[in-house]
Formats: sequence, C-alpha cells, structure tokens
Amino acid sequence: MKKLFIIANWKSNKTIEETEKWFHDFSEKLLLESADLSNKELIICPPFTAIERSHDYSVNLKLSIKIGAQNISKFKQGAHTGEVTGEMLESLVLYCIVGHSERRKYFGETDDDVIEKIKLLLEYKITPVLCISDLSQLDSYVDRGKQIIEKAEDIIFVYEPPNAISGGGEYKPDSPDDANLNAGKIKEKVGETKILYGGSVNSDNASSFFSQPNIDGALVGQASLDPIEFLQIIKNA
Ligand code: PEP
Repeated sequence: MKKLFIIANWKSNKTIEETEKWFHDFSEKLLLESADLSNKELIICPPFTAIERSHDYSVNLKLSIKIGAQNISKFKQGAHTGEVTGEMLESLVLYCIVGHSERRKYFGETDDDVIEKIKLLLEYKITPVLCISDLSQLDSYVDRGKQIIEKAEDIIFVYEPPNAISGGGEYKPDSPDDANLNAGKIKEKVGETKILYGGSVNSDNASSFFSQPNIDGALVGQASLDPIEFLQIIKNA
C-alpha cells in the first residue's frame, strides 16, 4: 500500500489562538472517530508565527503531525529585512513549500529564485515541497538546477495547476484522470519520487485523487483550515 502525504497549506491564515483551537478541535474529533492514520504522513504548514506552537500542540496532543513552512529566504543570514532563512527553519520544520504559484503571482518569484531555495532546503535537510503549475515549468527547473533530477527522491513534487486552486482567478478544477496523467509525466521526467496533487481538494473529491496510481497525496489549502473537514479528507484517503 502506498504511503499518502496530506499537506495542509494554511497560507496567511490563523492567529496563535486560532491555531490552538484548530489543534484541539482536530484532536478531539480524532479521538471520537478514531481515524486510521497508518501509512499517512500528515503535515501542517502554518504561517511562520504559528510554527513553534503548532509543533508543541502536535507533540502535547500526541498527534504526530509534522510541521512545514510555506517559504524560505533565497539568501543565507544577513541584511535581508523580513526574510526567514534555512538556518532559522532547520530546527523547526521538516518540510517547506516552494514555488507556489501565489508567490510567483504576488511576490514576483522566478524559476531561479525557486532553484536557490531548493538548494538551501536540501542543504538544511528540509524536504522541499515543490509546486509545479505545468510541465513546461518543470522543464525550466530541470534546465536551471541539476538538483531537481539528482535529488528528486528528496523532493516532494506537487502538480498544482493555478486555475484549480480555490479562490483563484479563472477557476477551473482539474479532473483526477488529468491530474494522474500529469503526475505520471512528472515521474517520467524526474524518476521515482512522490507526486502530490493540489487544487481544491476537499472531503468530497479527495479519494478520487488518492486512488490514482501516480498520485501520492495532496496539498490542501482552503479545506485544511477547518479541522473537521481536514480530518474527513484524511479519513476518506
Ligand atoms: C494551494 O494553494 O496550495 C491549494 C492547494 O489551495 P486550495 O486547496 O485552496 O485550492
């Protein structure tokens, strides 16, 4: 049975108080419903401000949820106001989202920036969760950074078409078959690795993506903000 990775991307949501409530509600419901968590890696990527508390809640409530970041500086420590470096993150997180289409759209991140960030993540032994909007973008990464192929086993790839992201501009959900086809093409290019699907995954459609042979889990945005809905996605996996 394949191991599923279910990663919550909270984006710019949740204060410390809201984070505490999320973990308590999740834990309470989990105890009541005793969901089967075997063969599932659950990862929450909160905003930087809630990373440490999320880790503590996960440990204290015995949830074995892993914690990830949503971004990393492309620089090492120094005079880069507002940036959070790999050195700062390495003792806090095991995973980090990189190359998300919202960072390209709103913060002008380029393919070269993404490659620099992947290099740093690998150096600090934080697993990159690399979002790929389409196959031409993957080609561009492969041209720019040898790590994409050489270290593919240490990277989690996410096929995430920007139009399938909930709340995005011209919203167009992807079908499980199409997502599977594209995940297969990513595997053909980079070799054996984990490929997740991202874009409007919720408790109604999660199992139709998880059952696809080339898909090893999901990156979940909006639906992960509600602990009950997130648990339902996990249960439906
Ligand atoms: C995302 O933006 O990474 C994402 C998966 O969002 P949503 O699930 O809300 O479409």
